[in-house]
Amino acid sequence: MTPNETPSAREPSPFDIPLQFFPGIGPERAALLAKLDIARPVDLLFHFPRSYQDVAPIRGSQELESDVRTSIVGKIEAIDLRNYEDGRSALGVLVDIGKGYVRLVWYNQPFRRQKLARGMRVVATGIPKPTHVSWEMRHPDMQILGENDPIPSSKPLPIYALTDGLQQRHLYKMIDEAITKLLPGIHEVLPESFREKNQLLEIKQALKQIHQPESMEQTTIARRRFIFQELFVYQLALAMRKTQLKSGLPAPSLPPSPMIDQRILRRFPFELTGDQRKAIEEVGRDMALTEPMNRLVQGDVGSGKTVIALYAMLLAVAHRHQAVLMAPTEVLARQHATRLQQGLKGSQVYVELLTGSMGQRDRRELQERIGLGTVDIVVGTQALLSDQVVFAKLGIVVIDEQHKFGVQQRAALRGDRTQPHSLVLSATPIPRTLTMTLLGDLDVSTLREKPEGRAVVHTYLGQAEQQESWWQFVAKQVRQGRQAYIITARVDQENDQSNDHDNDQEIEREDSDELRSVNSKEKELRGAEQIFQELGAGPLSEFKLGLLHGRMDGLTKQSVLDDFTQGEIQILVATTVVEVGIDVPNATVMAILDADRMGLAQLHQLRGRISRGNYPGYLCVFASGSASPDDNARLQALASTQDGFQLAELDLQMRGPGNLLGTRQHGLPPFRIADLLRDNEMVQETREAARELIDSDPGLSHPEWSRVQKQVLGRHGDMLSLADVG
Ligand code: ADP
Ligand code: MG
Repeated sequence: MTPNETPSAREPSPFDIPLQFFPGIGPERAALLAKLDIARPVDLLFHFPRSYQDVAPIRGSQELESDVRTSIVGKIEAIDLRNYEDGRSALGVLVDIGKGYVRLVWYNQPFRRQKLARGMRVVATGIPKPTHVSWEMRHPDMQILGENDPIPSSKPLPIYALTDGLQQRHLYKMIDEAITKLLPGIHEVLPESFREKNQLLEIKQALKQIHQPESMEQTTIARRRFIFQELFVYQLALAMRKTQLKSGLPAPSLPPSPMIDQRILRRFPFELTGDQRKAIEEVGRDMALTEPMNRLVQGDVGSGKTVIALYAMLLAVAHRHQAVLMAPTEVLARQHATRLQQGLKGSQVYVELLTGSMGQRDRRELQERIGLGTVDIVVGTQALLSDQVVFAKLGIVVIDEQHKFGVQQRAALRGDRTQPHSLVLSATPIPRTLTMTLLGDLDVSTLREKPEGRAVVHTYLGQAEQQESWWQFVAKQVRQGRQAYIITARVDQENDQSNDHDNDQEIEREDSDELRSVNSKEKELRGAEQIFQELGAGPLSEFKLGLLHGRMDGLTKQSVLDDFTQGEIQILVATTVVEVGIDVPNATVMAILDADRMGLAQLHQLRGRISRGNYPGYLCVFASGSASPDDNARLQALASTQDGFQLAELDLQMRGPGNLLGTRQHGLPPFRIADLLRDNEMVQETREAARELIDSDPGLSHPEWSRVQKQVLGRHGDMLSLADVG
């Protein structure tokens, strides 16, 4: 959300002053602000409050009333943090409010302790309850006040995302300065008539009200304007992309015919499910057109998405076109190639695998044959199939296990005169609440039905002390001829933080999440290796164990997996590298350790590894340390259903509004202020508005939309091929 930037030639405008020279900032603060993505003074204005403390009228100790929402101001007199044996905790903060005390209490948020010290001045808003000696407020909103800060009036108090070393009141000052200096120079982005039609506040007023509201109503109205704008800009990008794809190069027409259909279906050793047949029909209809297919097949693990991919590729081959299958990992690419080669034995179809471990000469030779058109289907990883591979006649690109919806790969494989059809397979079902937003320009086939006779997976939540007996169970199963996975988390145990639900900490937590995953690189190995050693020497010593993790090189990984596939390895100790796509039907038992550190989608994917064959699967999930998985809502959800679509919906709800990770997982851009769950209605409103506008002005070239166009390109240019936009 950049304002107009047309600085006049000579006078230094306040917009141009480097952040550190802006009043009240300096180099140190500028560095802190950079962490919040505030690089220029004007960014301060667009650093929106995350929430507001609705400061109720302040009352003194004589005026407190039970159950009446109130604010209190006072000094911290004492702090005590109690940690209980079961991992829970209670933090009590005694505040002296003059002639009386109020005890503020938080359960299971021990991290709050760090920020507090005796003698600090605070304002807290909450619901007071009398105790036998004083008053208590549970989980109040609270802010630290400076020694000389005025007592806040009963207006909404903005709460901003912070970073260490920066406090709310610092931001109040800086933003107040920015409002004085910069607000007059901000230009409206949206045309007036459009604003009126959609009841959107004018930008200057909206900025003032979002930072310095007089009432909660004002914050709602101001936020609405920016949420709308953010979603609208995104929907415009989606609508433009759709138009671009339609008006770009044509695709070859590759229609199915009864003959072709029969020849392809003969290759499958089973009856297709109803959903598979429907998806194949949809694919066939798309590929008959010269408008490139742009379709997503979403289906749970094991729903048989590969069949759809295969059909599409063989349809292209039947028309003497080439097909590409891209997989996220080399291991998976190899699995696909092997299966394809086996399945197509005796046919005229040539399948080749392009890998990173191929020698230079082999690779060049293969590329040459691809260029000549003597290879029909090329399988490889996305990285390998970049633009240096030139195809003679590319008809379709299939991307397997794609959880994100970029179009970069497809652009890279565009031909000279035609562009290929494209099919994307995803095993991360998109919650219905997100489809509107996400799939603005994709057609979707959904596989809900699973192939017949799929055995169920029993999911258990294991208490720490039950591990030993689980190993006994694993041993029993393996003795009966089954195979097992033991999965370890990426995350080490040292950085243990309680699984809290505090909004104020969200930003910091996210940072530390990233940190953790960096640190854990080192420790991940130890985790898996250690467990491999321990189990191999202990309870599972009679079996052949294998070890698999992301740090191994491609060839080692491959040979471990080959051994596992062939049953040479009976029990595979692995990190989450096995999450995607690996298919060993005889493996039916799995333990996941430190499962509380993994996402729900990931856990479900892992579980999918043991629902492949005819034997029932058994999964036991353990939480880290001595924690009980019963306390973890995600693990509860995992145990409650095997339906990936339902889990995706639950996951999104549990993450709660505004959680970026939830949307990033689906390849959405991070939204600054919009929340796809909360603002679902506006998602639809803006989608319609965007469609209407792009229909009448596909490139947003009318002058009144020039600032909006700039935002679309600035924020979402990567999804558009810029040249076409002009
Ligand atoms: P995913 O959707 O997870 O990629 P796959 O395509 O790998 O699933 O299919 C999982 C397994 O189910 C494979 O072994 C495949 O051969 C088998 N399969 C697919 N469709 C059917 C069907 N209609 N009937 C029986 N088995 C099927
Ligand atoms: Mg698959």
